[in-house]
Amino acid sequence: MKATVDYLRALTEILEATYHRAAHYEQDPPLSAEPSTPLGILMVTILSQASNDVQTRKVYRTLRERFGEWSEVARAPRADVQAVLKPGGLSQQKAKYLQAALADIYQRTGAYDLDFLRDRSDASVREFLTGLFGVGLKTAACVELFGLGRAAFPVDTHVSRIAKRLGLVSPTASPVKVQRALEPVVPDDLALALHLNLLAHGREVCTARVAHCDRCVLLSHCEQVGV
Ligand code: SF4
Repeated sequence: MKATVDYLRALTEILEATYHRAAHYEQDPPLSAEPSTPLGILMVTILSQASNDVQTRKVYRTLRERFGEWSEVARAPRADVQAVLKPGGLSQQKAKYLQAALADIYQRTGAYDLDFLRDRSDASVREFLTGLFGVGLKTAACVELFGLGRAAFPVDTHVSRIAKRLGLVSPTASPVKVQRALEPVVPDDLALALHLNLLAHGREVCTARVAHCDRCVLLSHCEQVGV
C-alpha cells in the first residue's frame, strides 16, 4: 500500500467519520490541561510517556498547582518533582527530563518560555526543539502540532503500529523512521485529524495486543502486514 495523498485523505475521512477526534479537538484537546502554550505542550508530552491521558492530565495539574511557574519546577529539588510525578509512572526519568529540558531552554533563551517559536519557520522550530536535551522527533512534532498549530505529524507507538499493519512502511521500521517516511507525504490539512484519529483507532481497534480486523473500518484499505 502506498501513502499517496488520495489514500491518506480517504483514511482520514473514514477515521474522522468514526472517531470524530478532529471535530472534538477544541473542546477536548488530547494532552493539554490548560491553554496550549508550546512549553506547556512540551512538558505534558514528556509526562505522557507510558501514561494514559487521564493520568497525564492529573499529574500535569498537580505539578502546576504545586509549583506554579515553570521556573519553580526547574529550581525545585529533583525528589520534590519526582514525588508529584509518581502517580503517572517513570517519575525518576520524567523529573530528570522535565528539569533538563527547562534548564536547556533557559540556558539558550534566558526565559522559561517557548512562545518565541511562533515567529520562527517550521525548519527552525524543528531544529531548536530537537536540539533540546531529551527531545526527540515525536515530542518536537507534538509541540509543533498542538502548541504552535503547525502541520507536523507526530508518530507514536499507535501511529507507527497502524502504519506498518496498513503496509505504508516497512514492518521493522522504528517510530522515528516511520515519522521520517510519513511526515513529508501527509498533507498539511490532514495532519491533526489523521494523527488524532489514528491514536483513537490504535487504542480501540488496532491495538498492540490484538488487531480487531473483524470490526475495523479500514479493513478494505489494509494490507494487514505484521498481524
Ligand atoms: S484491518 Fe486489522 S490490521 Fe488493518 S488497520 Fe484494521 S485492525 Fe489494524
